[in-house]
Amino acid sequence: MYPPIIGKETFAKVQDRLFHNRYFQRPEVEREPYILTGKLFCGHCGTHMVSDGGRSKTGTAHYYYVCKSIRKNKCDKKREIKNDLELYVAEQTRNFFTSKAFIEKVVDDIIVYYESKVDDSELKRVEVKITNTKKEIKDFTAAYVKAVAEGNQLLIDSCNERSKELAALLSDLENEYAKLSLEKVLMVTKKDLLDYIGEVASGDINDIEYQKYLIDHYVNAIFCYDDRTAIIFNVGDKNGKETVTKDDINEKVSSTESSVNDTSGGGTGI
Ligand SMILES: [Zn+2]
Repeated sequence: MYPPIIGKETFAKVQDRLFHNRYFQRPEVEREPYILTGKLFCGHCGTHMVSDGGRSKTGTAHYYYVCKSIRKNKCDKKREIKNDLELYVAEQTRNFFTSKAFIEKVVDDIIVYYESKVDDSELKRVEVKITNTKKEIKDFTAAYVKAVAEGNQLLIDSCNERSKELAALLSDLENEYAKLSLEKVLMVTKKDLLDYIGEVASGDINDIEYQKYLIDHYVNAIFCYDDRTAIIFNVGDKNGKETVTKDDINEKVSSTESSVNDTSGGGTGI
């Protein structure tokens, strides 16, 4: 069962250690979820930043994100403390999604979405009635002018009566149309917006699962510098499919802190 050259006791110890290593002492970096992986880039050289760290001799865990080029001595970016950076990105993401700029953006998006989806048949029905009523009013006006010219009092009275009815009908229809238009927009927007923002804003920011949710759904990329961090959020139709490069960031980021705004048409906020 064991090589005779090694004593039974030694072999057992080695086996023990192998077993222990395999099941209990895998490097911590493998088990610790690095939730920014794949989206985090070094601001200095543009390379991905990857997981690093583990347990020190005293057993204390140290987890970092480091620029991949550092291992080849090609970059001077300092390492980032994993938990601090993840919390910062999650907080910035939540702040962005509860910001005025974002809420306005969502309102616009929802209006556009529902205007294309909501059933317009009722509005169209009223619209057709309005058009028909206006045409009838025009016809009766012409008949009225003719009746006056001919001095036909019976016809004049009849036209007057019908004109009043049509004017009242038109007024009712226009009110109904305005009401339907307003309801269609306001009802949907308000409810959806409040539900959505409320849900996004309500999580526990120190919960790693919530941080992961925010980052997975709303963060496109993070460019990390020693003195600042630029976060690109997924906003709009493109939903993060656009590739952003370090040069794009350098052009747009001038402050020393991450800023939040929506780039024109790019579907991203920086
Ligand atoms: Zn780098």
